[in-house]
Amino acid sequence: MIDLRSDTVTRPTPAMRAAMADAPVGDDVMGDDPTVQRLQADVAARAGKEAGLYFPSGTQSNLAALMAHCERGDEYLVGQLAHTYKYEGGGAAVLGSLQPQPIEHAPDGSLPLDKLRAAVKPKGDPHFARTRLLALENTFHGQVIPQAYVEEAAAFARQHDLAVHLDGARVFNAAVAAGRDVAELCQPFDSVSICFSKGLGAPVGSVLVGSRALVAAATRWRKVLGGGMRQSGILAAACLHALVHHVDRLAEDHANAERLAQGLRQVAEITVLRQSTNMVFVDIPARHCEALTAHAQSRGVLMKAVYGGATRLVTHIDVSRADIDSVVAAVKDYFAQT
Ligand SMILES: *Cc1c(COP(=O)(O)O)cnc(C)c1O
Repeated sequence: MIDLRSDTVTRPTPAMRAAMADAPVGDDVMGDDPTVQRLQADVAARAGKEAGLYFPSGTQSNLAALMAHCERGDEYLVGQLAHTYKYEGGGAAVLGSLQPQPIEHAPDGSLPLDKLRAAVKPKGDPHFARTRLLALENTFHGQVIPQAYVEEAAAFARQHDLAVHLDGARVFNAAVAAGRDVAELCQPFDSVSICFSKGLGAPVGSVLVGSRALVAAATRWRKVLGGGMRQSGILAAACLHALVHHVDRLAEDHANAERLAQGLRQVAEITVLRQSTNMVFVDIPARHCEALTAHAQSRGVLMKAVYGGATRLVTHIDVSRADIDSVVAAVKDYFAQT
């Protein structure tokens, strides 16, 4: 199947599986797993930070970071549509006793500084939660957040004594698309969470990077949240393999997404809303959603057409350029028949 539902669907390549099978391991909760240690050090170095910490998921990595930055009753500023607000089960509130302050996004995915300014609570007034952190996301719905904005937002945060966290689930996509070093994109942030189970093609895991002190605090929360793993070098080896072999190739995913957008623009009934990095957003008329999804599936294409909104199509390592042409052909066939 050509699966465009997400870049989380990737399967480890034979070379990645071989690297996993060969990994030296130990008990990582005791700090004994050499492969996990290497991954943490490598990712920290790539991101230009002091230390790294391997997590079973990005959700847990983000949550541990929020909990390391903030205390009970503190508040973090976050995008209304950000993963760390909307798509993590309310974990910061439920498990962290933190209050999110959602901010409406600008069309480019940024959080306007005037809106942030209005949301920072006055200090020392017991009416308010203490605003402690600004959380951004890059890429955001596939969009690369402009670096000039990131630097401005971080400077704003510093002026207000806020820490700055990046949900960099796809920060490697951002770096490849922007032609910048990942360290440059991470520079303005105190902490960054990076997913390996998306476009990088590893089966499991995220790495949180930041200062030694931040990572030490997050290590405690990882254990509390049930994320301490034992011989996790088996999994970390897949991430190390991805760092070497799957970063530069993200450009192919971006080119394939562009090709997909170009192909779908030729279909009159569909509106291509936007393509950025490895994501294409299309508007499919409600009356076609179910039938098109079924037709695509019969042609070996998995996608989930959404009623009255943007359908997201995502390219990744398991989708080739030829696959893109098959997808476009399948969609064209559907509309030719109706
Ligand atoms: C996938 C994702 C995460 C983390 O998700 P997990 O499935 O928990 O690894 C965090 N932020 C963004 C933007 C993501 O896309």
